[in-house]
Amino acid sequence: MTQRSYRLRVTLSELFMTSFTHSGSTDLDLLAQRANANLADATAHEIIGWAAEATGGRICVTSSMTDALVIDLAARVQPGIDVIFLDTGYHFAETLGTRDAVAAMYAVNVINVAPARTVSEQDRHLGPRLFGRNPDLCCHLRKVIPLEQALAPYRAWITGVRREETASRHGSQVVEWDRRRKMIKVNPVVGWSQAQVDAYIEANGVLVNPLVAQGYPSIGCSTCTLPVQADADPRSGRWAGTGKTECGLHT
Ligand code: SF4
Repeated sequence: MTQRSYRLRVTLSELFMTSFTHSGSTDLDLLAQRANANLADATAHEIIGWAAEATGGRICVTSSMTDALVIDLAARVQPGIDVIFLDTGYHFAETLGTRDAVAAMYAVNVINVAPARTVSEQDRHLGPRLFGRNPDLCCHLRKVIPLEQALAPYRAWITGVRREETASRHGSQVVEWDRRRKMIKVNPVVGWSQAQVDAYIEANGVLVNPLVAQGYPSIGCSTCTLPVQADADPRSGRWAGTGKTECGLHT
C-alpha cells in the first residue's frame, strides 16, 4: 500500500451520499471515529490534508484572530481555503486589524460573518448590554447562529481547539462528528501544548494579534475579555467572574 496508514479509503463525499439515502449520520459518525484513531499520530498538516481530500475540498477554518496558527497550517495544505471570522460587532480594533492583515498576508479567503442584527438593532429589540445581562443569549445570537449558517456549505470545519485550554475541551479529539451541525469537526492542534504553539509561531513568523503581547492570551469580544496575569489561566479573562467559559461554538 503506497498510501500513508492514516489515509481512509472511503471519502466523506461517498459517505455523505450514502448517509443521506440510507442510514442518516451513523456512517459519518463511524468515519470520524475511524479517522480519529488513524490520525492519532499524524502531524497537523497531515490531519488537514486528510480532511481536504476526504471532503473534496469542502472545508473551512474558523478563527477568532487571536493568532493565525491554524490559518498558517491550513494555507500550506490547501491554498485559498476559506477562513470564517465571526464579526460580532463587539471586537477590539486590534482583532479587526489582525483579520485584515491575515487576508492580506496569507493564501486564504477570509469570510466576514455578521449576525442578523447590528449591535444597535439588537439593543433596540432586546435592550442595551445584553452581553452583561444574558451572555449566553448574546453569544447564541451573535456567534452560534451565524456560525451554523456560515458552515452550511461545508462538510468539515477546522478549529484551533486544544485540549489544555479548558476543562470542557479535555475530551476533544483530532476528528469528531459534530452532531449538532451534522458535519465533521477537525482539530489539528488539539494535542498541542502552549509551548508547541509558541514554537511554531516563532519558527514560522505566524501573525499574532498585538493584544496577546498586552496580556490577552485568549481574545473574544472587547466587552467580555479582560487581560490576565502571566501565570493565570489564559482563558480566565473571558467572561471573567460570570462562570461562563465557552461561547457555545464548541459545546
Ligand atoms: Fe456577546 Fe460577549 Fe458573547 Fe461577544 S462574547 S457575543 S459580546 S456575550
